Amino acid sequence: MTAALLNQLLRHPDNCCTQLNDWLTGRGGKGLEIALRDPAALIPTIKAAGLRGLGGSGFPAWRKWEMIAAQTESGDRYLICNGNEDEPGTFKDRLLLEESPHQIIEGALITALACGINRVIFYINPHLKRAFETLSEAIIQWQQSDYSQQINQVLGTTLELKLIPSPGHYIAGEETAAIEAVEGNFPFPRGKPPYPAVAGVHNRPTLVNNIETLANVAHIIRKGAAWFQRLGENNNSGTKIYCVSGDVTAVGAYELPMGTTLSSLLFQYAGGIIDNRKLKAVFTGGPSNSILTADELDVALDFDSMKQHQAALGTGAMIVIAEGNPIIPHVAKYLDFFANASCGQCPPCTSGTQDMAQLTRKIAAGEGRPDDLELLISLSEMLPGSGRCHLIDGAITVLKSSLQHFQPEYRRALIK
Ligand code: SF4
Repeated sequence: MTAALLNQLLRHPDNCCTQLNDWLTGRGGKGLEIALRDPAALIPTIKAAGLRGLGGSGFPAWRKWEMIAAQTESGDRYLICNGNEDEPGTFKDRLLLEESPHQIIEGALITALACGINRVIFYINPHLKRAFETLSEAIIQWQQSDYSQQINQVLGTTLELKLIPSPGHYIAGEETAAIEAVEGNFPFPRGKPPYPAVAGVHNRPTLVNNIETLANVAHIIRKGAAWFQRLGENNNSGTKIYCVSGDVTAVGAYELPMGTTLSSLLFQYAGGIIDNRKLKAVFTGGPSNSILTADELDVALDFDSMKQHQAALGTGAMIVIAEGNPIIPHVAKYLDFFANASCGQCPPCTSGTQDMAQLTRKIAAGEGRPDDLELLISLSEMLPGSGRCHLIDGAITVLKSSLQHFQPEYRRALIK
């Protein structure tokens, strides 16, 4: 395991620039030049590299790219660069946009060339004000560069780069909700199929990729698939930006090899648990995934290893809870978040998230009765799969995981 921070994407001196000229005199432009010479080689390279969706899905990036590229109808194709980031404990896309906007734009341009996309939309949470402004200036610099014309020649059409503010709340980051928002509608998630690759924005083929995913693309094309594979562990390629918050000494974003262990992340990099206390739990991958406990410090933080632990890497956010810190108020806070984020399309999600949040709040306040806990447990059994999107399942996953690991704490909190 590499002992040092890798900093391929974050805080690398060649990446940390907001001026296109500075980016191009460092690492920048070289991946795009390779892409302009041989666009047909791009998808095979991304496939060999093993790049996955780093917004939380872990879905192989090349599969979505290939589906778009395989569409035969002429007409517009869209890329939505998803920077709606609004999940508790996740702040990686904000940092990438603020510190290194050009690697993201270059990654998006290469993606467009790979898939024959002519409309690139940067869909950014406007509450991330500095990120939004930095990206806005960076896009103008690319539009005025010599690359624009070269890209248009290779694409055989005019490439449009557009920045639009996302609605800025959690559900608007779901890929079909993002498509609705780009069309000017309320971001209600859509049912699938049809999949966005076939019928997305205005029924045209649409690729939705997260900001961190796109940030890797220019580096992979410049340095090759084998280089990217070697960065990660356990057959999970590349690096991951882990956002560590809560009861750790050094809250921050750490870019490390994919597959770094939880122990290494918390104790070698994030300075250990505050006040030399013991670890109690970690909400992994944001608050919509399973909880890891102190017995699971050896788990490798990559998509496949986390799955083997019945957990998920998600966005890579790790919210740390120290021994002595009660778990139920945290679960109640996240269930409140999901209840507020629910878009209201599916009654089981709208009322179910509210009921679960209310019951958990009541127990956290020491006002719960045994019947309340039984109802909470039965809701967590009844509701999975009852929504159109993953939101309700995420809320249930964190609740069930807390009940699995900390049920004695729930029972102790009840009125006898
Ligand atoms: Fe909306 Fe919830 Fe249904 Fe998702 S599951 S579409 S958030 S109501």
